Amino acid sequence: MICDFKKLGLTAMSAAMVLTSAAATPKYIFLYIGDGMGMGPAMATEMYNRQVLGNDTPITMMQFPVAGFCMTYSASSPVTDSAAAGTALSTGAKTKNGMLGMGPDTIPVYSIASVLKAKGYGIGDITSVAPDDATPGAFYAHVPHRSMTYEIGVQAAESGFEFIGGAGWRTPAKEGMPSLMEAFADNGVKMIFGPDSASCIGDSKRVVMVNHWGTNPNNVGYAIDSIPGNLTLPFLTEQCLDHLKRVSPDAFFMMVEGGSIDHALHANDGGAAIKETLNFNESLEVAYNFYKQHPDETLIVVTADHDTGGMTIGNPFLGYNARLNLIDYQEASKEEFQNLVKAMAKEGMLPSWDEMKGILTDTFGFWQGVPVTEKQEAALKKKFDDTLASRHSDDQKTLYANFNGFVAEVFKVLNDAAGIGFVATSHTGNPVPVFAVGVGADQFKNLNNNIEIPAKILRIVEGK
Ligand SMILES: [Zn+2]
Repeated sequence: MICDFKKLGLTAMSAAMVLTSAAATPKYIFLYIGDGMGMGPAMATEMYNRQVLGNDTPITMMQFPVAGFCMTYSASSPVTDSAAAGTALSTGAKTKNGMLGMGPDTIPVYSIASVLKAKGYGIGDITSVAPDDATPGAFYAHVPHRSMTYEIGVQAAESGFEFIGGAGWRTPAKEGMPSLMEAFADNGVKMIFGPDSASCIGDSKRVVMVNHWGTNPNNVGYAIDSIPGNLTLPFLTEQCLDHLKRVSPDAFFMMVEGGSIDHALHANDGGAAIKETLNFNESLEVAYNFYKQHPDETLIVVTADHDTGGMTIGNPFLGYNARLNLIDYQEASKEEFQNLVKAMAKEGMLPSWDEMKGILTDTFGFWQGVPVTEKQEAALKKKFDDTLASRHSDDQKTLYANFNGFVAEVFKVLNDAAGIGFVATSHTGNPVPVFAVGVGADQFKNLNNNIEIPAKILRIVEGK
């Protein structure tokens, strides 16, 4: 009898284990990709969170119980671009830089979103940059080059995805071809514009949400610039989640890309990169709150497609110090400040050096909160004179190409003072972080290769 009891116990335990393993298949999967968010920007953001904002609790991604890191090299280079990296993270296949949703042999490879769609998951694919850009595009498109943005847009229309969102379509029309508006309409997708349009979703099953027509399609606007009337990544995340909960309540997959992090890092704009990473983190809270309500059915994985800029905390000017509080003086992104200077040049309204000093004080806290040495001031003035003041209006083409030298000098002063360093304006082969919580999260600890991320998610979905 005792033996029988033990046997029964064992059998019951085995059954329970089977049940546990069957139940341990996530119904709700979130893949967050901070574009360009290497270890440097991620850690600088946490440093800012702790030292400047005074929070004892780490940023959301760093509260997750599982952390690892990831290698990002592509099939053609130790330094990947976003197309090859997006393809690796979405399909589990390495490809050459520039190629999207295809192997190096141009044979299409299929994303985890397509595989999960076939299994009945609803799909959301959103970004703070263009939805036809490399990272979101890698989940539905198959083109030999990422620059084929009209074709990528048509493939978005044909993807069957329930929600696609971002800044805007970069090639909405092509001669002799139907416009993207027509392509979306033909595929039963409702295209809506701007944050106020959320109420227009109605009972549409498939939705594309982008900024108002005529606004910059490249990104929704930096968090640091907070452009009124534009979409934001946290807002898009809430809309996408609400939509998926309505049209596919039993299972869904969401990819959320913090695309503007990469843009800020390319610009070596340390302050904007940190504020953009915080914004990405805020959008992650939307998924994390959902996870807390469905902890046994949800998986969240956060990673980056590659590092951009090789950003560091600490630089050759501050020794064993960094003063990230100085980025709070910054009231405009590098891109926005550049636009301002460009507009002044175009209208023949270039300020004098003294007036420009006033603008630098108002916009970046120079000479007040942010110290500027005499040597730095001389370098700023020289760039100002060389690239702006001494130019004539008939020299505008050169002017536009060169005034960036002045803007770059302004941001060098800011980064130097804050203790932020950069080694590149392109991507690097530095490792990127991986954070995970929920069903199967353990699989992401330690060192990952980027192609393993989607493979692991599928393995978890299949209960392996
Ligand atoms: Zn990039």
